[in-house]
Formats: sequence, C-alpha cells, structure tokens
Amino acid sequence: MDRMQRIYLDASATTPVYPEVVNAMLPYFYEEYGNPSSLYEQGRKAREAVENARTVIANSIHAEPEEIIFTSGASESNRIIADYSDWLITSTMEHTSLLSYADQTIGVDDYGIVNEISIYVPSVSLPKKILSIMHVNNEIGTVQDLTQLAEKAHSIGCLFHTDATQSWGKIPINVAESKIDFLSATGHKIGAPKGVGFLYWNKDASHEYDSHGSQEFGLRAGTENVPYIVGLAKAIEITQQRQAFYHNQIKQTRNEIFELLKYKVPDIAINGYDIYSGEDNRIYNNLNIRIPGVKAEQLVMLMDEDGVAISAGSACHAHDIKPSHVLKAIGLSDKEAESSIRITLNQPLYPVEISRVVNTLIKNINMLRSYA
Ligand code: PLP
Repeated sequence: MDRMQRIYLDASATTPVYPEVVNAMLPYFYEEYGNPSSLYEQGRKAREAVENARTVIANSIHAEPEEIIFTSGASESNRIIADYSDWLITSTMEHTSLLSYADQTIGVDDYGIVNEISIYVPSVSLPKKILSIMHVNNEIGTVQDLTQLAEKAHSIGCLFHTDATQSWGKIPINVAESKIDFLSATGHKIGAPKGVGFLYWNKDASHEYDSHGSQEFGLRAGTENVPYIVGLAKAIEITQQRQAFYHNQIKQTRNEIFELLKYKVPDIAINGYDIYSGEDNRIYNNLNIRIPGVKAEQLVMLMDEDGVAISAGSACHAHDIKPSHVLKAIGLSDKEAESSIRITLNQPLYPVEISRVVNTLIKNINMLRSYA
C-alpha cells in the first residue's frame, strides 16, 4: 500500500518530525557545527543556540532557563531522578523507566488516579525522598492534578517529580505555581526527533548528584546535541500553536471514532475515564477501549495490513506479550487487558478517514470474532 494512504493513530508512541524542525536543525549539522564548550566563534554560536533553546523550553513550563537540563529523552531524565533520589515512591502505572527503580509503589483507582498516598517513609534520615507521579498516563490518558500531588509530597517530607512526556505541549504546565521540583519530558511525542528531551530541576533543589561530567550544570555528562536541542525548542513552539488550533477538532475526531464504533459494536468499553468526563480527567487525544472476544495484537496486525496504525499497549512494551501493567493496575483481568487497543491522535482526521478507520475496525473485529 502507498505510504501516503496510511493513517497513523499512535501519536503517544511517537510523532513525525515537523519540516520546520528539520529546517531549524540543518544549519547546526553543517555551518554551525561547533562544540558549545569551545571558546572560538563556532563554539560560541553553538552555545548561543543551546541557550536560546533553553529559554524557549523554560518558558513553555514557566521555569527559569538554568532549571532546564538537556537529556536524550524522558527515560534518561527519569533515570537521573531515580539515581539522585535515595527513596523513590511511585505509582503502579508509571512508565517502566521509572517504575523499575521504585523503592515503594502506591496503587491507583479504576481510573488510574492516585488517591491514597499512604507512604511508608523510612525512619532513617533520607534527605532526597522523591514522590514521582506521571502527569498523563501514556496508555489510558488519565490526567493527574500536579498541584495537589506536589502539595501532598511536600507535606510528608518528599520532593515531587512528574513524568510529563504525554502532556508537555498539550496541557499547560506551570512548575512554579504547582511547586513541582522535577519534571521529565521528551521531544519525539511533539514533532522533534527521537533522542532528545529535558529534565526540569528546580533551582532550590540540591545539585548533590555526580554525573561525572561538567555539562548541563554538572547534572548531565556529554557534549550537548546542538541540532536536536534546537529542534526540540522549535517543536514545542509549533506544538503549542498547533494544539491551540487543532485541540477541539482532535477531540471531536476521537469522540466520533468511539461513537461510530460503539454504534456497530455495542459491547466495547472504555478503559480509564469516560471520554466525556472532561479534560481534567482524560487527555483529549487518547482513546483506549477493550473489545470482548478479540485479541488486540491480532487486531493491530490486521489493521496494519489495511494501512491503519493503532496500538495494543504502549509502544515501549509492544514486543512484550505480557498484559499491560497499566491496565492491570486499574483492575483489568489479563483477558480484558489483552483485548484492549489504544488510539492516540496528533491531528484531526477528515470524515472520509474517520469512516475508513471505523469500517476497517468493524470488519476486522467481526472477522476475529467469527474465528473465536
Ligand atoms: N515516559 C512516558 C510516559 C512515555 O510514554 C515514554 C515513551 O513512550 C517515556 C517515558 C520514554 O520516553 P523516551 O522515549 O524519550 O525515552
């Protein structure tokens, strides 16, 4: 099938790089190739580009430029926080790049909300206890209240970190107002290349962390990836403009796909918050549904053959046949989790595309059910 005809519905896994981002990056591969730590002109120009990008990124979350540490992406940012902490408390539905380092986990309710923060804080004096809860869940789109969580963390003597990979650029974030201490984000969910992201590090939090390098205020070793950092700043600028423009249309596309599908396949059910429950609860571009009697992986493969990319669980776990730990965390059985698909949108679809997606889903669901 011609690639142009494919419909991509997996924006939470990754997004294509915007042409404007590529254009902004190009000079930093060729003419302005200096090392930002060098004192001569090429180095100074590279440094200027990195610092301009730092200001743009800082503004996007209401931080100060010196609070932004460039990294290779959210996994690395999360890893730095895990290494820095001496007691890491997190929820059972975090991304594995953080969850795998947890000293203590706390459960979530059926919607994926962290309600009960009964934290076991060890009696030994640990100055860097961190509570880390993601802003928007990558599978079911649940939105957490960062201000409340930061307040709770501080009241029990913890610092607060959030993984904002799925919200940055889509939902306004004000780290100063919400009193967030650390925040991870990445570029490839918002039209920048894979392999660049950042960690926000509140200036009042200690820098007592040895990265074994002097770059990025001593918090991240390695020569800065100047073209990608320039691309990251361009991508957030474009994303914020685009989301303001497309937001409602994306939500409408998501809702129409669900409504049309539900009409023909009435026994499908939504995982997480209802899509009409408001954007404080569920991000506007996410749909996650379970389809009784259907193996999601088989549906994904049939949809792929028909030129439509959807996901069965998050991308990072797509080769892992275990049921999604997020769906298990909200109380689904293995069988329910294995019959769940995710659709995430980066742009609205035309009506003809919506019809094609829905009709293809119906055709393939019916086919799989007829074999069951
Ligand atoms: N955190 C969340 C919530 C994610 O969805 C992802 C990627 O899917 C990551 C972290 C990892 O991001 P990166 O690919 O930049 O390491």
